[in-house]
Amino acid sequence: MTSTIRRDSDALRVAVVGGGAAGMMAAIFASVNGAAVTLFERNDRLGKKLRITGKGRCNLTNNCELNEFLNNVPTNARFLYAALSRFSTADTMDFFEDLGVPLKTERGKRVFPQSDKAGDVVAALDKRCRVLGVDVVNRRVDGLLLDGDTVKGVRIGSEELEFDRVIVATGGRSYPMTGSTGDGYRFAKEAGHTVTPLFPSLVPLVAKGTFCASLQGLSLKNVSLCVKNLQTGKTVFEDFGEMLFTHFGLTGPLILSASAHLLDIAPEKYEVVIDLKPALDEKTLDARILSDFVKYQNRDMINALGDLLPQKMIEPFIRLCGIDVRKKIHSVTREERERMVSVMKGIRIPVMGFRPIDEAIITRGGVSVKEIDPKTMESKKISGLYFAGEILDVDAYTGGFNLQIAFSTAVAAGSAAAL
Ligand SMILES: Cc1cc2nc3c(=O)[nH]c(=O)nc-3n(C[C@H](O)[C@H](O)[C@H](O)COP(=O)(O)OP(=O)(O)OC[C@H]3O[C@@H](n4cnc5c(N)ncnc54)[C@H](O)[C@@H]3O)c2cc1C
Repeated sequence: MTSTIRRDSDALRVAVVGGGAAGMMAAIFASVNGAAVTLFERNDRLGKKLRITGKGRCNLTNNCELNEFLNNVPTNARFLYAALSRFSTADTMDFFEDLGVPLKTERGKRVFPQSDKAGDVVAALDKRCRVLGVDVVNRRVDGLLLDGDTVKGVRIGSEELEFDRVIVATGGRSYPMTGSTGDGYRFAKEAGHTVTPLFPSLVPLVAKGTFCASLQGLSLKNVSLCVKNLQTGKTVFEDFGEMLFTHFGLTGPLILSASAHLLDIAPEKYEVVIDLKPALDEKTLDARILSDFVKYQNRDMINALGDLLPQKMIEPFIRLCGIDVRKKIHSVTREERERMVSVMKGIRIPVMGFRPIDEAIITRGGVSVKEIDPKTMESKKISGLYFAGEILDVDAYTGGFNLQIAFSTAVAAGSAAAL
């Protein structure tokens, strides 16, 4: 990448608050554009959350076109148009390849480092910051210094540190042990910004009843799952993949993705429907069950379903069908068998709500984008103040979209803040 540093004694002093995906990227672009950059990170290392993304593999972007990208952004997609046009998914890929992180594209156009190591992405950004002379300060910023409608710097305890521009990239409120405790929302409010209500998204679901708890630890691969809004009767999400039962309900990739589609969640507003046998239609499944029944005709129900279901699922499944677990196979009625087919094709689990925001992959809600210039990420209220990354009221589905949003908004903010 180009690294013409035109820094001189008149260089603008830019503070970036938060050394995550957005903060490091903003620091790099502000620096490349000639600013003298100080990056404040409260942890002793940069990119703590970035290190755990994509189960430690970092799904850093999605190799798709702009329109497809925007279809994966349920909140304020239009706001991102300018930033994503300027620094696209292809630009992200070029950027990291140029930094010496070879990439690969997997199912669903998800892009990962070839090494499968999120640490390589962090190390590349960290190194680039240091090569560019970004001053990394491992301290927690407590507030902004404001003078009327202009930002003047940041405050740490009683210390006032002056800067010409400040970029707030403190992230959301999820996974607070990574350092993202939501400080920036307070800074934004104190500066007169609107912060829209914060909700968890890409988050496990709490289920009604004890069915899920009885299957705790069981992971199902290759199931098809849909979520219905019971108030409207509409299917709001449908996909195929992997999920996991827990003591509180449901999690796993399918569930996290589904959660982003559940708006104004309320107890029993939504129902998860799991098709355990998506490859078989009802008739074929019935024939399959019948052939097992012939094979195991003298066994009890509980000892006859091992070819069709995971062991842990057998007893809860039979109970769900309303059949006695000790019933002999040869005495199972046609009506009972039909019930088995229908339950196998659609286990219905009422959703009571989301797990807490601490357990969410991302935060929905944040600094209102109505008050931010979409080309520069500058505040429309306070001159010299910028926001980038998850702190903004934008969020996306899984697939590398959230990190790309962090990168694109950071490039816009970093570049503009240096000029
Ligand atoms: C488990 C998990 C897996 C994920 N996997 C993916 C994935 O594979 N692909 C994807 O696209 N997205 C993924 N995400 C979402 C993605 O990590 C976030 O969207 C992204 O990190 C947001 O970047 P950010 O820079 O805005 O915030 P963050 O990465 O949260 O960084 C904010 C930084 O600011 C620092 N900070 C906060 N307050 C202060 C303060 N007062 N002073 C100084 N520093 C401060 C924090 O310590 C933190 O380092 C995942 C999230 C989680 C939790």
